[in-house]
Amino acid sequence: MGTGALRVVGAHKTYAGRRGDVTVFTDLDLDVYRGEVLALVGPSGCGKSTLLRVLAGLEPLTGGRVERAGVRTGVVFQEPLLLPWRSVRANITLGLSYRANRSRASDADVDELITLLGLAPIADAWPDQLSGGQAQRVAIARTVVTRPDVLLLDEPFAALDPAARLALQDWLLDLRALLGLTVVIVTHDIDEALRVGDRVALMGTGAAGIEHTWEVRDARTQDVSAEIRSRFRTDVGASPQPVTAGSLAHELLA
Ligand code: ADP
Ligand code: MG
Repeated sequence: MGTGALRVVGAHKTYAGRRGDVTVFTDLDLDVYRGEVLALVGPSGCGKSTLLRVLAGLEPLTGGRVERAGVRTGVVFQEPLLLPWRSVRANITLGLSYRANRSRASDADVDELITLLGLAPIADAWPDQLSGGQAQRVAIARTVVTRPDVLLLDEPFAALDPAARLALQDWLLDLRALLGLTVVIVTHDIDEALRVGDRVALMGTGAAGIEHTWEVRDARTQDVSAEIRSRFRTDVGASPQPVTAGSLAHELLA
């Protein structure tokens, strides 16, 4: 395997709640290698989103650490969260309006990225004119324009119909190859994990942490694929967590 981009060592995460504490993981180790696509799967509530936010630096750990090796991360959530009063292009440049990102790309860079990602035909469209798949491409472009080394995606295609989902998976793999990105993608969908992942990591419930990781080269053989599926019996296909105004604000302001 290649060199590390992100390394989680002995991570412990407890949320303090009014109805008691929730321990999400207690001794979690995970390596993300440069240039790979790591697919993170696991039953609802096992802590995938928490781990992704930890990787993004949006969520503090209660114990342990994340080694970043100087990499920058960018995050994409399930909902595209485009601003309806801004064009596609203006939504993409929104990523640059944060102070830390301001110098990350010029207008010419933005145009180049829009072309590279196949978004030129819709650059002047408004969000309400886009399909769900197009909207999510724009959301990913809005993050990519800030030039992250590692792209972190939390169930990015879960709200899309199967055809759009397949198209976006291919598009993501192209984008990753074009830009040399490292990708961590959380998904409920094992087929998606096997299709886009170079490795698949299975997270368990009950603070189990990462139960197992597979090289997809091996996982494409039927035995390992069946093993992943049987270990992942619990609530595959559970409906995705709804995005509420409150949770959105939490994600954006965290
Ligand atoms: P997943 O993405 O795998 O569905 P999450 O990371 O969203 O899991 O949640 C893991 C556990 O932590 C769940 O029990 C959830 O209720 C709890 N949790 C997540 N976020 C918070 C929070 N901000 N405050 C308290 N508990 C939380
Ligand atoms: Mg989640």
